[in-house]
Amino acid sequence: MGQVLNGKMVAQAVKDEVAAMVGSLDYQPGLATVLVGDDPASHSYVKGKRRDAEEVGINSIHHEVDASVTQEELIELVETLNADDSVDGILVQLPLPGDLDGEVTVETIDPAKDVDGLHPFSLGKLMLGRPGLRPCTPSGVLRILDHYGIETAGARAVIVGRSFLVGRPLAMMLSERGADSTVSVAHSRTEDLPSVTREADILIAAAGSPGLIGAEHVRPGATVIDVGVNRTDAGLVGDVDFDAVVDIAGAITPVPGGVGPMTRAMLLVNTLRAAKARRAAP
Ligand code: NAP
Repeated sequence: MGQVLNGKMVAQAVKDEVAAMVGSLDYQPGLATVLVGDDPASHSYVKGKRRDAEEVGINSIHHEVDASVTQEELIELVETLNADDSVDGILVQLPLPGDLDGEVTVETIDPAKDVDGLHPFSLGKLMLGRPGLRPCTPSGVLRILDHYGIETAGARAVIVGRSFLVGRPLAMMLSERGADSTVSVAHSRTEDLPSVTREADILIAAAGSPGLIGAEHVRPGATVIDVGVNRTDAGLVGDVDFDAVVDIAGAITPVPGGVGPMTRAMLLVNTLRAAKARRAAP
């Protein structure tokens, strides 16, 4: 049976590190969360992020906005947070309801406070291989690999999914100097997915398709990272058929308790980094 990679435990270790570093500062970093409308999943995500922030000593500044807010009003709120010196990170929970434009809203965030790492400036820095705030989920994937000593250098990595949120930034991060993987990105138009994914030493599923990855997709001994979070009648499931794959994989993340907690922990890391960088700036 493959080793089950415990995202909850690694995330706690990351949080402990952040808490210790926050404790050594002579100021309190601040994370502003903006939640628009009443989508239950978004509410629960933001609640978790706020709780995490408080746990590590980061000041959680929360703004809950009615779904009837106009785009202009939302932009005004973000601009107020940009100008607020006590705010080091701004997170606008996506997706936004109705006609509100998530992209336009995110682009309003001061890149220095872009702790989700999804502003075009942050993604551009990633593309250029320059230091900057990286998206939380791909960062969480790299961190859990690192924690368990899973070698990325020279490894063949296959990512299933090409979204700007997960697949594409993760492809860039795994192929960056330092991580040094050879990366393929598969998507819904990929032909013969099992033959592509079987090439992988490290297989990352980020498709949003429950149980997409089965035994036939996995090379014996491969590391399988399941980013998928799918709400089904059977509860929360990943993109990987865990029971079918666990005996073939060398290591595997579960859902829940794998990448999800890592994503949340990396938001705290980004907030701390943003706070230090911004407050060190002349
Ligand atoms: P997305 O924007 O819907 O992108 C899904 C990607 O998967 C697309 O590129 C799509 O291909 C590809 N895809 C879908 N079905 C496929 C199939 N049958 N075969 C091959 N490729 C397929 O989703 P996302 O935002 O990246 O999220 C992906 C999953 O990760 C979701 O379950 C989401 O809930 C989860 N997620 C988890 C975390 C976490 O912290 N654990 C964070 C973010 C997202 P096309 O481009 O061709 O359509």
